[in-house]
Amino acid sequence: MQRVAAPNEPPSGRRRAEGLPGLPPPETPLARWVVYVDLDAFYVACELRDRPELAGRPVIVGPPPSEGPSRGVVLSASYEARKFGVASAQPAVVAARLCPEAVWIPPDFAKYEQASREVREVLRRHAGTVVPYSIDEAALYLDVPSAGAARAIAERVQAELRAELSLPASLGVATSRAVAKIATDRAKPGGIVVVPPEEAASFVAPLSVRAVPGVGPKTEELLRRLGIEQIGDLAKARPSELRRALGSFGDELGALARGEPVLEPATVSGPRSRSSDRTFAVDVDHWDEVETAVRTLAEELSRSLDRERLRYGSVGVAFRWADFSRTQRVRSLSAAREGVAPLVELAVRLARELWESERAGRRRPIRTLSVRTERLTERTQRQASLDGFAVDGPAGPGTME
Ligand SMILES: [Mg+2]
Repeated sequence: MQRVAAPNEPPSGRRRAEGLPGLPPPETPLARWVVYVDLDAFYVACELRDRPELAGRPVIVGPPPSEGPSRGVVLSASYEARKFGVASAQPAVVAARLCPEAVWIPPDFAKYEQASREVREVLRRHAGTVVPYSIDEAALYLDVPSAGAARAIAERVQAELRAELSLPASLGVATSRAVAKIATDRAKPGGIVVVPPEEAASFVAPLSVRAVPGVGPKTEELLRRLGIEQIGDLAKARPSELRRALGSFGDELGALARGEPVLEPATVSGPRSRSSDRTFAVDVDHWDEVETAVRTLAEELSRSLDRERLRYGSVGVAFRWADFSRTQRVRSLSAAREGVAPLVELAVRLARELWESERAGRRRPIRTLSVRTERLTERTQRQASLDGFAVDGPAGPGTME
């Protein structure tokens, strides 16, 4: 990851806006801006396109409780349902108790993938590079002269998504992806938050370190032991200490907290890991079923990597057992791979190893299975290891806000 000069300083490789449609000729050198787009209650919003009569009602996408006692979780909840305390990743039984009048809709992932492609098409109309981060999040990297110009594009994107696709979105605008994503969280639902580079440090300072993409419970705990709880504390920490604790991610966190604009080359800034998971309606106690599920998940994952022209450098399989404990096995590859067959084969082998070693002497059924790929790189490009804020890793395509 490289630093860039602040937008008001002339960068060494100065870019100009020749050929950017709809923008006045630039007076100033261009800076890179990130418009981060996060669709609001995405799965629910997709369903409402087909069933507009449900608008304004509490709607939950997840395993309907009417189909018997379910062990699944809420995948997406409308804001009306959230008023009852319903939240993504909540067990369906809990959500059903909190909001008995909710309308439940079983998930239709093909529909959501299609909507996600439509969203990317809208983003691609705008001059810039589109990088998808998950089924309902993407960033548009722009070279424009000012915060105002970036905001104007964000407003247009939001209006087009609503008018043409009936999909509400929240947008964050900043000069780094991390700050733009944090701004998006603050914009929810349906807003736009713009953070100019000179305000970035004060904007993030009061927030918990957990607001930073890639900081999960493990990193949070590690930072807490260093006396760091808010992002502002990171700015005061000694860089060498952060680096010792977190490697290059520590450097990135320090830069983020100090509001230093960080250039993320759009071509290599995709997410560093991807996973696909499944929670079974009934805990699984037979290898055949495990194998079938692992194959399906690995195929899904492989197809989604393929669409984005990504290769993977390691593969992992994790089981969440019926007692909620979790075990995983990860294998690094000597060279990045692509394609369905090697991913499926390796995932099944890892699952088999895990199944045999973890069940030795005790029979415990599996509740949730996940297949994960890490160290992702673009197919025809240099490797992407410098980028990405995924230390604990994002949750994958399972649940979302
Ligand atoms: Mg979302």
